[in-house]
Amino acid sequence: MSMTHLDHRPDRHADKDLSDLKDLSGICSAFQKAKADKAQRAHLPLQKNIVQKKRSFSKMRQILDVLSLMPHGGPNICNITVTNVCNAACDFCGYSRDKQLISERKWMDFDRLCRALDSLYRRGVRYLTFSGGEPTLHPNMPEMVAYAVSLGMRPSVVTNGFTLTEARIAELAQAGLKTMFISIDAPKAEDHEKNRGLKGVFGRIAHANTLLKRYGIKTVASVTVNKLIDDFEHLATTLKELGFETVTFTYPKRDLNSSSLVFSDSSSLIDYSEDEMVQALENVQTLKKHFPVLNPAESLREIIRLTKKEKQYFPCYGGYKYFWLDIDFNIYRCDFWATPMGPVEDFETMAFIRDDCQMCNSVCYRDSSVFLHFPVSIGDALRATARGRFDKAFMALAQKTNWRSLKSLISEWRTLKKLARTES
Ligand code: SF4
Ligand code: SF4
Repeated sequence: MSMTHLDHRPDRHADKDLSDLKDLSGICSAFQKAKADKAQRAHLPLQKNIVQKKRSFSKMRQILDVLSLMPHGGPNICNITVTNVCNAACDFCGYSRDKQLISERKWMDFDRLCRALDSLYRRGVRYLTFSGGEPTLHPNMPEMVAYAVSLGMRPSVVTNGFTLTEARIAELAQAGLKTMFISIDAPKAEDHEKNRGLKGVFGRIAHANTLLKRYGIKTVASVTVNKLIDDFEHLATTLKELGFETVTFTYPKRDLNSSSLVFSDSSSLIDYSEDEMVQALENVQTLKKHFPVLNPAESLREIIRLTKKEKQYFPCYGGYKYFWLDIDFNIYRCDFWATPMGPVEDFETMAFIRDDCQMCNSVCYRDSSVFLHFPVSIGDALRATARGRFDKAFMALAQKTNWRSLKSLISEWRTLKKLARTES
């Protein structure tokens, strides 16, 4: 949408029509214009019809696409690190501009990324998250979004929000972006800006949220659980003031084994004892009762059990349904894993991994695995049925965890639907 749609054109045209009536030629042109307007209005229902038909056609294509992917549990997801460069200085992250842990500044090559997206698509990936570093610093970010959308994928962008000018937002909206995750660390602006090393970023985020809404991009606050959050109620109030309607929490990472630097083993902001971590997660559970928190309740319970070293119920699908593409075009099952599955160019022939891993608290993988558990069971049942193994199909569907997964899907459905959409 361009800003020309947002000003008051009809009124200005009305003034012009009145001045046209001051002489005869004005009357003629006003008459002809009225006739033309009338003719155009007569076509409007037809145009509306065509748009609606196009929309239902693309909806139908999406439904058929999802059905075709069901034997493997539906669409796959991939996180992509497009640059290791960041303009922020977050204490709990190794990409911080001040830590100088990056030996070489890197930007994903756009052409190679397009070829990678082709391969990902052919192997069932439909949801992407572009992250960094700060992904909006990549000069080809809008083109990356546009290319993914043209393939039929649903990309989202994770950003600290500092670069979100109206021009940048307009470019991303035009490219087809519908979802953006914006990081928030604290209820107080000064704490957030101090940690990020970005003065004035709170105000920029508030302004960006107004614009993003106008441009049809849904935003979600992305909050890392950290010690700057001394009051979760205050955090909710701040999020509302900033224009957020939904929040998702990520859990602090003290170490990662892959090439990702989104962790810190020295930050006091994420130095939690077991009890403190459980308390923080319980605070998120409480917040969920009166503010839309995207993390499913089942996943929060699972991560609390993980923190307490108790039994886990949901297998993680990192390597089977969820993947991470690093800056060097290596595909990993997740950013916690030390060894890549291989270069993305081999993705189409790569053996996927399904070993019921439950090793870490990486939120995107663990939350998604709760949501995906039921569709994966349906896929297992479909494949077993095709082989005539009705006993196995029954076993796949009879797992108790399926109903918990389904309950999570139902309770978060409205938000997930908005985040997954390709049209406004
Ligand atoms: S958390 Fe994000 S914004 Fe902060 S330093 Fe890391 S990559 Fe940059
Ligand atoms: S549990 Fe953690 S380490 Fe295991 S596959 Fe999932 S994200 Fe990776």
